[in-house]
Amino acid sequence: MNEKKNKQSLKQVWRNNMYLTKLSFKTAPGYMFALIVEFMRNEISIFLEFTIGFAFVLESVEFGRSFGEVAKVLLLIFVFVAVGLFYNAVFWNKIRERAVPKIERSLKEQLYAKAKEIDLGCYDNPEFYNNYILAVSEAGNQINRNFDIMSKLVSGLTGLTLASGYFIVKDPRSFVFVAASFFMMMLSNKLLSKLNFKIRTERNPLERKLGYTNRVFYLNDYAKEMRLNTEVSREIMKDYDETLDKTLAVDKKYAKRRLGFEFLKNYVAQDFIIDILFLAYLVYSAAVLRTISYSQVAVLRGTAATAKWRLGRISEVYGIALEVSLYMERIQSFLDTEAEIVSAENRAVPETPTVIELKNVSFSYGENDYVLKNINMTINPLSKIAIVGYNGAGKTTLIKLIMRLYEPNEGEILLDGVNIKDYEIEDYRRKIGTVFQDFKIFAATVKENVLLDFAENGSDADVCNALEKSGFSERLNSLSGGLESNLTTEFEENGVNLSGGEGQKLAVARVFYAGANLIILDEPSSALDPIAEYHLNCSMLTAAENKSVLFISHRLSTTRIADKIYMLEDGEIIEEGSHGELLKSNGKYAEMWRVQAGQYL
Ligand code: ADP
Repeated sequence: MNEKKNKQSLKQVWRNNMYLTKLSFKTAPGYMFALIVEFMRNEISIFLEFTIGFAFVLESVEFGRSFGEVAKVLLLIFVFVAVGLFYNAVFWNKIRERAVPKIERSLKEQLYAKAKEIDLGCYDNPEFYNNYILAVSEAGNQINRNFDIMSKLVSGLTGLTLASGYFIVKDPRSFVFVAASFFMMMLSNKLLSKLNFKIRTERNPLERKLGYTNRVFYLNDYAKEMRLNTEVSREIMKDYDETLDKTLAVDKKYAKRRLGFEFLKNYVAQDFIIDILFLAYLVYSAAVLRTISYSQVAVLRGTAATAKWRLGRISEVYGIALEVSLYMERIQSFLDTEAEIVSAENRAVPETPTVIELKNVSFSYGENDYVLKNINMTINPLSKIAIVGYNGAGKTTLIKLIMRLYEPNEGEILLDGVNIKDYEIEDYRRKIGTVFQDFKIFAATVKENVLLDFAENGSDADVCNALEKSGFSERLNSLSGGLESNLTTEFEENGVNLSGGEGQKLAVARVFYAGANLIILDEPSSALDPIAEYHLNCSMLTAAENKSVLFISHRLSTTRIADKIYMLEDGEIIEEGSHGELLKSNGKYAEMWRVQAGQYL
């Protein structure tokens, strides 16, 4: 983040903090009311005890009052304080425990809803992604900080109003010292919190890198690679050491400045002005000018000490508010991100098998080069289409466009002659069953993994039927728990871990269960050997007899049975036709086939 973005106007600071305050009042109004009452009560109790009570006792001694009179007043103060403490212990702490998570949940729900709604393309933008990570990880902290601000303001202002009233009645000049201390403290706090934010933003990318190392060493996903490739772990460790050094260097770079600001805050603003200058003034007023009594020296000194503490709390407010605001700015910018891929209204996708056409479609990720160029393709009802090409040719990107996860830069995609933008997006996506290469198996039962709706009560027969079509039946029969067997060992010690190929079959079953008319399979059998792949694909294609199927492959074992093959290279269709036609034309496809054919024949 650059300096410019760190600059915040007072209005922005106010607006961003008010957003959180309003959210808190809306989500937990009872708690917020109790918070205000509690902090005011605490201040009144301190004022009664340490200023009024103390002055009364000292003056009683200095000017002579009866012990009975003093005892009565002290008892009254004691009862007020005791009732307050009881309220604090019994009531206050309990509601706080419940309210904070409630407010945090309300903000997090907004963040998660947004994360689900925004375009996949946003994840390719590092600034957006950083904002998202920051928003999710900092939401709770900012809410707590906002409470902190409120508590400081309410208690500080109540305490100060009481103290100021006392100063003005007893000795108005005293007030000047307190005010001077306050402004000095405000200034040093502002400088300190700006510096802290600067340090934190410089440390942020480094800490993310440290977090990555951490994940690599503890996550299951990396465990195999790390054992087999000692060089990788050595490199990562080296990287970790270097990053740690850089983190320490950031702290070192700002250490002197930080020390200076802290000296200004802790010594000059507080101790020097209030403890030394003010005390000297009070003694001078009592001993030389005789404008105040000796009792008042002690009481005013004590009241100034508590006021100093209140001022310290209030003067911290701007600094904290500024930091909250800087974070909220990013959280807001995440929440304000508008999805560009939005749903059209009131146009459902036809239930019958449909034609999908791509017309002159070109696409690039952000500002990068085009990864798809002028693609023309037709998927007729019930046809079996293969898209082949080497890694990086643009096959998966093409599927992402068809699924409307990204929008083409040029050209259009039509379903039954209507641009897919004009359909209800959820309906459109639901009616096309897609299995991506990086499908996920959830920590749930086999059945739930097929339904993908943990609340749905799908019929066992339908689920088994889908599993049969995807070739999972044999494995299902070997599971003692059948459809109710738990998958993954994430939460269940006896959970079943599927092999790559088995997982793929399960993922394919989801599509059969959902009953889509068009099935898209992105290298669904890459984890199988060529022969097994061929058999699986043949049985899948038979099962999908009355559906359109688009399958992606960089292996050609199944392409023989496709009605039409599109060969993709560097984002362009370089050849198209049936297996026989493409072999006859003896181009790139024929060459790829000859290289791989030995595996299949
Ligand atoms: P294939 O499926 O044929 O292996 P892809 O469609 O995955 O190819 O990728 C096509 C090209 O687009 C590759 O050069 C890849 O690096 C690039 N690419 C893929 N995803 C992204 C992304 N999110 N951001 C930028 N470039 C991407």
